[in-house]
Amino acid sequence: MGKKRSTFEQVNYYFDHAADALDLSPEMRLTLKTPARELKVELPIRRDDGKWESFVGFRVQHDNTRGPCKGGIRYHPSADEDHVKALASLMTWKTAVANIPYGGGKGGIQCDPTQLSPTEKEKLTREFVDRIDPIIGPKADIPAPDMNTDGQVMAWFMDQYSKRHGYTPAIVTGKPVGLGGSKGREEATGRGVMITAREAVSQAGEALKDKTVVVQGYGNVGSHAARLLAEQGAKVVAVSDVKGGIVNPKGLNLAAVTEHVKKTGYLEGAPDSEHLEGSEILSHQCDILVPAAIGGVLNETSAKDVKARFIVEGANAPTTPEGDQVLDEMGVTVVPDILANAGGVTVSYFEWVQNLQNFYWSHERVNRELEAILVAAFADVSASAQKHGTNMRRGAFALAVQRVAEASKLRWMS
Ligand code: NAD
Repeated sequence: MGKKRSTFEQVNYYFDHAADALDLSPEMRLTLKTPARELKVELPIRRDDGKWESFVGFRVQHDNTRGPCKGGIRYHPSADEDHVKALASLMTWKTAVANIPYGGGKGGIQCDPTQLSPTEKEKLTREFVDRIDPIIGPKADIPAPDMNTDGQVMAWFMDQYSKRHGYTPAIVTGKPVGLGGSKGREEATGRGVMITAREAVSQAGEALKDKTVVVQGYGNVGSHAARLLAEQGAKVVAVSDVKGGIVNPKGLNLAAVTEHVKKTGYLEGAPDSEHLEGSEILSHQCDILVPAAIGGVLNETSAKDVKARFIVEGANAPTTPEGDQVLDEMGVTVVPDILANAGGVTVSYFEWVQNLQNFYWSHERVNRELEAILVAAFADVSASAQKHGTNMRRGAFALAVQRVAEASKLRWMS
């Protein structure tokens, strides 16, 4: 346990456990672990000051056995091969858990987006589309937003791809609603967190009403998860962002908090709240903890201080394998990322379906279909955990790996 693992090794740690539980052959293990295709591209752009600069971008297609590769594109200094590969494989397992017809992919451009003007960001995006064009397509690989990429970046992406291939909204998801995006996509990941939290609590014979909730990260995932949990009667007592946290034991006024964040950019100083050190958020007293910020925050040390009985992972990989073991021994129910935050990719799937059919759904229908998929996924993961005598995370990986292995056997490995 002591050795520091790369992010790809961390994901494979759970894969290996699943492969053992399923008694997979060495050949199947190797093929499921190894990314199907990795593309590294050079992205030269002329900066606003007239100088040329080259960036490096990646697109990794981990697996496409159950459908086209699906996964976001992040603009971040840490977007290296290892990270992108790890996140691509996580997408393979996430789409398999949700049982939607996709494989897993991920992309990234190594850059500091705070140092890019909007014009530079647009040039970089268009260059990236041109360079990865040979391997993407609505039936091959459909990117989406991720860290520091948004609806505008997806709109440029779609426009650039469409210049070569004709109007193709299904090439990318997470587009603005005015350009073929889906209603309900923005809140979808937070809604999935709420649905899976509700299922976890209900499995324990309890209800969300009056449960206390703490959320780390008040961005897209965290803010919607907090709002939707509160709508179900839970009491959100503390939330945090990159600068620190706020707390109110009686429950935060989330509408006022969100308004404050819209105005100032941060949680600090929100109405009816006291300051809380960011380092104290994960150990704050509550029933349900939602890490919805960054990876690796619940490690061997921080996990020991958790007071929550339920953890619902809004972020990708917020718990290290060491942290996971500690939480397991403490008897905390952890709803793993590949289930808890699968609401986003599920509504991305709905967006792609709507684009392919040129027929658009109501927000109510999107929510209804999302509910059905996640309730079924939760039940499948629980059944898998029970069958293998293990926790929800290992149950989720066993379920996902079994689904991809079965499809691989049927398609080409029989
Ligand atoms: P976001 O950029 O909208 O919000 C991130 C939030 O986390 C911000 O409030 C930021 O201030 C806060 N934060 C950053 N560093 C922090 C730190 N060290 N401590 C506390 N807070 C910190 O991002 P998002 O879209 O909400 O994504 C959050 C996480 O969820 C990421 O891990 C992302 O990969 C994952 N995720 C997002 C989606 C989606 O649909 N947006 C889907 C699946 C998974």
